[in-house]
Amino acid sequence: MDFAYTPEQEELIRTLRTFARKELAPRSQQWDRTGALPWDAWRQMGELGLLGLRAPAAYGGQDADLVTMGIATEEIARGDFSCTYGIQLANLAGEILGRNGSEEVKRRWLPPTCAGEAIVALALTEPGAGSDAANLACRAERDGDAYVLTGEKSGITLGMAAQAAIVFARTDAREKARGVSAFLVPLDLPGVARSALRDLGSHAGVRAVLAFDHVRIPASHRLGEEGTGFYQVMQGFDYNRIIIALACLGAAQVSLEETMAYVRERQAFGRALARFEGVSFPIAEAATHLDAARWLCYRGLWLADHGRPYTKEAAMAKWWAPKLAVETIHQCLLLHGHYGYTDELPFEQRLRDVIGLEIGDGTAEVMKIIVARELMGRESLPY
Ligand SMILES: Cc1cc2nc3c(=O)[nH]c(=O)nc-3n(C[C@H](O)[C@H](O)[C@H](O)COP(=O)(O)OP(=O)(O)OC[C@H]3O[C@@H](n4cnc5c(N)ncnc54)[C@H](O)[C@@H]3O)c2cc1C
Repeated sequence: MDFAYTPEQEELIRTLRTFARKELAPRSQQWDRTGALPWDAWRQMGELGLLGLRAPAAYGGQDADLVTMGIATEEIARGDFSCTYGIQLANLAGEILGRNGSEEVKRRWLPPTCAGEAIVALALTEPGAGSDAANLACRAERDGDAYVLTGEKSGITLGMAAQAAIVFARTDAREKARGVSAFLVPLDLPGVARSALRDLGSHAGVRAVLAFDHVRIPASHRLGEEGTGFYQVMQGFDYNRIIIALACLGAAQVSLEETMAYVRERQAFGRALARFEGVSFPIAEAATHLDAARWLCYRGLWLADHGRPYTKEAAMAKWWAPKLAVETIHQCLLLHGHYGYTDELPFEQRLRDVIGLEIGDGTAEVMKIIVARELMGRESLPY
């Protein structure tokens, strides 16, 4: 067993911690208030290589391992949570397009995505199909050298800012998951409309509803073979669950560190708050839980990097870490007393932000179904 980071990873942590503290944290609240995507931060993340970690080197990416991507996400979350959506989605796009895109699609979309100059969203969820994603209704019908796309996608992160989306649509009405294909859809095509969602948190994550009314997409924009779309995205989702978990843990960890500094200074009843066990024990418990959850995440990413099964660990991390982050940040908010409840401190924003990922990319209930299936077999499935 080796729990040490490589010297390169240590260096990445130092660089990104400084970047998050100096460049992201001071502007995070402003981005939350305006609800606009911070393109300049995206370009900075692009320059740091964070948006091309999983894209092929030939198209501006770095072919980096997943542990490195986990480290990057955790560090960026310390500065601004919405920016971690950039890392998640750029790298999912990099990987899905890199593996399944035509040469034309890869050349057009991968370099600007890696540079932080373009955004490719991922559009799977629909008004009528979320947890049961394979039951989607959006359809793509073949018409000569094109497909005609009709339907609606809902809850799409970065959807108001994206120039393109990977859209999952039914190409075979007789099949369920095997009837779904994926397409790279430029969002300036005729027939595309979008509208903004008003979210509790992560306002700079600009989630949207995307509507497609007989949108003609060149057949060269289909990703992989017909009927493989669902499997492409599910492969990506397994590791992305751990990346999401680490984003939540990064926000919780920085909150805990700020709280420890505060309770050592703040006085009540003639002594520092840290001297009261009612204050120090919840901190000790949170630190224990965060450490355990982090190592679950890194073990999962290590398994993935070594080509070993890690579906169970990914689902465990995805249900536990966002919940733990919510509980920890809530505790940190309370330990700051009434100041914690104001928007002068970052806890209320972080709390609103991490709640989103108790739902996004699969709820706790769906994750526990997966864990139970991995532990006890398909006999434990409810359907
Ligand atoms: C912050 C955020 C970002 C998102 N980003 C994207 C994105 O970029 N792209 C995208 O395609 N989607 C995105 N989504 C959508 C997200 O993936 C879905 O919201 C999620 O999969 C749940 O689907 P649903 O909202 O339709 O809930 P439903 O599936 O309707 O579930 C509602 C409730 O029922 C429970 N439930 C459902 N089935 C079961 C079951 N079998 N057993 C027990 N309980 C069950 C769920 O756990 C949940 O509590 C995002 C959502 C959020 C909140």
